[in-house]
Amino acid sequence: MEGVKASLPQTLVREIESGLSSVESTCTALASHFSHNHVCFQLLQQLIEPGMTSCAKDRQTALDCKGEGNAAFGRASFKHALDCYTKGLRFISLNTQIDVSHAATLLVNRAATLHRLELLDAAVQDCTRAIELQPDYAKAWYRRGRIQADLRNYENAVEDMKKVLSLESSVGGQKQVKREMADLEILMSEMTVLDEASHMIPAVDSRKWEPRIMESVMDTSSTWTPEKQWGLSTEQNLEPGSLILQEAPYAAIVLKACRNSHCHYCFGQLPANPMACNTCAIPLYCTEACRDKALGCGSDRATGGSLHLQNDILSGEHKHECGGASWSAVLPTDAVLAARIFVRSQALGHLDNQLDGFCHHYENLSGMDKLDLHVLAVVMANVLKCNSGEVTDNVAAKLVLLIARVRANAMAIVSISSPDTAVPMTELSAPDVSSSTSTLLSIEQVKVAQAVYVKASRMNHACDPNVHVSFQSRCLSARTIKSVLAGAPLEISYGPQLGEMFYEDRQAWLRERYCFTCTCSACKHITHSDLLLIALHCSKASCEGVVPGPAVSPATESEAFQRTLQKQAQCLGCGTLVDVATASIAAKESMEELERSDSSPLFWVLVGNFGSDKRCLWVFSGVCRIKSEVSSPSAGKNLKVMVAAVLHLLGCCRDVLHSSSKQLARVEDLVAQVLCTADQPQDAISHCQTSIQILEQVYSQDHIAVANERLKLTSIAHAAGDTKCALLNLGIVDRIMRIHYGPHYSVMFPYIASLQQVLDKSGSFVKN
Ligand SMILES: [Zn+2]
Ligand SMILES: [Zn+2]
Ligand SMILES: [Zn+2]
Ligand SMILES: [Zn+2]
Repeated sequence: MEGVKASLPQTLVREIESGLSSVESTCTALASHFSHNHVCFQLLQQLIEPGMTSCAKDRQTALDCKGEGNAAFGRASFKHALDCYTKGLRFISLNTQIDVSHAATLLVNRAATLHRLELLDAAVQDCTRAIELQPDYAKAWYRRGRIQADLRNYENAVEDMKKVLSLESSVGGQKQVKREMADLEILMSEMTVLDEASHMIPAVDSRKWEPRIMESVMDTSSTWTPEKQWGLSTEQNLEPGSLILQEAPYAAIVLKACRNSHCHYCFGQLPANPMACNTCAIPLYCTEACRDKALGCGSDRATGGSLHLQNDILSGEHKHECGGASWSAVLPTDAVLAARIFVRSQALGHLDNQLDGFCHHYENLSGMDKLDLHVLAVVMANVLKCNSGEVTDNVAAKLVLLIARVRANAMAIVSISSPDTAVPMTELSAPDVSSSTSTLLSIEQVKVAQAVYVKASRMNHACDPNVHVSFQSRCLSARTIKSVLAGAPLEISYGPQLGEMFYEDRQAWLRERYCFTCTCSACKHITHSDLLLIALHCSKASCEGVVPGPAVSPATESEAFQRTLQKQAQCLGCGTLVDVATASIAAKESMEELERSDSSPLFWVLVGNFGSDKRCLWVFSGVCRIKSEVSSPSAGKNLKVMVAAVLHLLGCCRDVLHSSSKQLARVEDLVAQVLCTADQPQDAISHCQTSIQILEQVYSQDHIAVANERLKLTSIAHAAGDTKCALLNLGIVDRIMRIHYGPHYSVMFPYIASLQQVLDKSGSFVKN
């Protein structure tokens, strides 16, 4: 792209950057430059020609992957073997009989690997896929039979072995299979009734999207104001937790960072045996159903036949990307998403699509951004023309605004990470919460995709929002998290919320990312929550007043030192001037000292020796450092030292920080975590409780951050054997989760449901 920009005539660059000419005319000029310029031609070739990239099917690559997989399997590096076979499947086409049999081999080899990794259901699935491709492939039947036997599905195992017998020609092979069948018969007769009952319990697959029980959706209406343009408001009074919207996306796309870990259609975590696209080497899908839907040729079985996805059946969103060309893998995600929107709106027959009313802030963009959009749009117009051959001429101009609209309106689809999903490529399952380990449960979300919703994308931003959105697969649900009066705007948070970032930082973030200055009620003046982000203790021992600390946001702590820090701050309670500058200088020195000793074990000695005169920022950096130490593999060795260091740190923090400061909540939470790691959950309870009290002041009692901390407390109390405390907290978690995620939230958070079951059991045990 840089080469292309360098090739542009300066007059054209200036014309685009100034924004004085119409987008249509600058796009036309740029397009004509593209058609004559060699550098541009080359770039387009690279993006469009399947032969020039590694995005097209390629038998040799697939066979190389198979070879590498076999070698890894031989070394017992099963995880690596798994990756190799999956990559091989990505590159193998199904065009010729030879390729089909290569694909079947790759599937059976992957099944054998899954078998060794004890991922039996996935292994059976891969064998079945191989059999579907090549029904006379004895190895596939044999492998499936063996796995069925391990699953104790003896009858199925025998059936598969019978099939092997009919296909196997060698005498030795026949003998072996007969022997194994005889063994199976014995096992079958020995299987007790109890065994049968225990393996009859159907496995719950939390990845599958349950067809939801319909909740009533409230009426909303779109409103237009000159300042905020489109917005959404309610037509009736709403209680917290009311469902106001359920919507499938107009278009959606997986984020680049999640391409190898999440399904490119439903955005769920990929299983150990993902499926590749049939005709290109780019996407991975969790099942055949998702793959078929992405190509627009499938039934609706991927998503449980839900009504909300009716729109999606039309789409086939990957189809126009699927020629083996690299552009959809290489270009920025928002541009590829814009192309999906463009192609879809064309397919639906209204070029002036429903998203035209969305703001794009084009005029507010910098000259450089305008130039970027132009180049991207002209590239996209060429690419789409190449693939469909029916795109009209001013497409580039439309795409400029469309990409800008996507940037301003796309929403992040988040997925709940289950506590055990730190290890990717494993089957998702509920963690074992029945054992009394100190596993800390928490609600963590990861951004997996970007999507544009016709209705939900109209919601405006507020730093203290009254709506929370959640996602199941691609479908968005929006619920009120406060009481909202009829006619009031419905607002979500686009990013940093009140209590997470100081108001100036929030505003700067929103200006930079979304080109507007927030004027929400939380931004009118500095709020209580802003003050508590970093609140210092008053120097008068008896005073409970808050001393505002240096305004830093948690996200930019390392930059804290580059800021000009205020020298003195006034206690809001008694008016005493408190010297915060000395604290900052001491902090800076200690921080530098710490940076130098970063990699040495001396760190712990330093932590143990620092004096309480070194003030707040020192403490914050220490907290971050310890956090990474706690999660490092060598942490176990120094548990005693760590507990001592952390408790010492807590004492220093209490001297410096106000008792309601959010920073103190972080430290208390950390102390609880360290105590749990050191197997002292009963000592951790009070620290976790203090953290909750602070968070309730910084946010509100029903905030999701509070639910998260209470969930931690529940697991700590459970580990400490305090069932009463655990049940009490889980009850509150339940209430907050219902408000944010609806009555069926346990579908998304299976581990909360299993914790509830375990606690109910031990609760009734206590009563008896
Ligand atoms: Zn999927
Ligand atoms: Zn494809
Ligand atoms: Zn605001
Ligand atoms: Zn004071």
